[in-house]
Amino acid sequence: MKVYLDGQLVEKADAKISVFDHGLLYGDGIFEGIRIYDHNIFRLEEHLERFEFSAKALMLDLPWTRQEISDAVCETCRANGLKDGYIRLIATRGQGDLGLSPWSCPNPSLIVIADTIALYPPEHYEKGLKIVTVPTRRMNPAALSPAIKSLNYLNNIMAKMEARQFGALEAIMLNDQGLVAECTGDNVFIVHRGEILTPSAQQGALKGITRDSIFDIAKGLGLKIAEHELTRYDIWNAEECFLTGTGAEVIPVVALDGREIGDGKPGPIFKQILQAFHKRVREEGTRL
Ligand code: PMP
Repeated sequence: MKVYLDGQLVEKADAKISVFDHGLLYGDGIFEGIRIYDHNIFRLEEHLERFEFSAKALMLDLPWTRQEISDAVCETCRANGLKDGYIRLIATRGQGDLGLSPWSCPNPSLIVIADTIALYPPEHYEKGLKIVTVPTRRMNPAALSPAIKSLNYLNNIMAKMEARQFGALEAIMLNDQGLVAECTGDNVFIVHRGEILTPSAQQGALKGITRDSIFDIAKGLGLKIAEHELTRYDIWNAEECFLTGTGAEVIPVVALDGREIGDGKPGPIFKQILQAFHKRVREEGTRL
């Protein structure tokens, strides 16, 4: 496997960065997870835009144009003959001294890994996930905006570990007001009285690219969809529930905290959305 590292394609074993990189020392950096379907990179422009927004939020000046980053992503996929898979795009703050100050890091590093990913075992896509609510709350935006896809994912990792302690593969994270924010690496949707609802960014949801495509798909199918505040009560009373994310794609949820959602099976609206999603990802995107 070839990895893109600061302008060069190097062998995986040689893809190394300094232990003085603040990406390692402090989680100071940003990333994107991107899918490629049948040579089409799904919503690359949207991922590159979010990458730039994350950088701006962290005052990380990217010394590359959007075109240069896009070229690096495409070049890495081509070099690895990646037709279907998962791309990890990373910018670290770069090498500096041992103090927190980002000003000691003049040169950010750009990394692209083109690989594959399987977040959940295939049977869960058929039968649905049973998830739990975890005690770890999604970060308050006043502390660190959950809209930033930074290299510091400890809040999500704490929640992921708690989910596992409770025997679940994914978890609902509440915000500090007790409202549903999202899952550890996925956005959450419910169907209530036939309408698809999902928390907004203000409630602590990452503005997911897959989430965004669900809005387009739902509108195209003539389904009602909106951002809405959600509590656990709303999930208990939902007809359906599903999660979305680049890694997860679209996956049904059939239970929360041991309670069945709807009739405990993936629902009709989820199935409609899933079918349209699979079609769309092969049709739209940046052709390699
Ligand atoms: N929420 C979190 C916390 C995430 O890390 C991700 C991405 N893995 C998502 C939601 C889903 O976003 P996207 O559809 O852009 O992958």
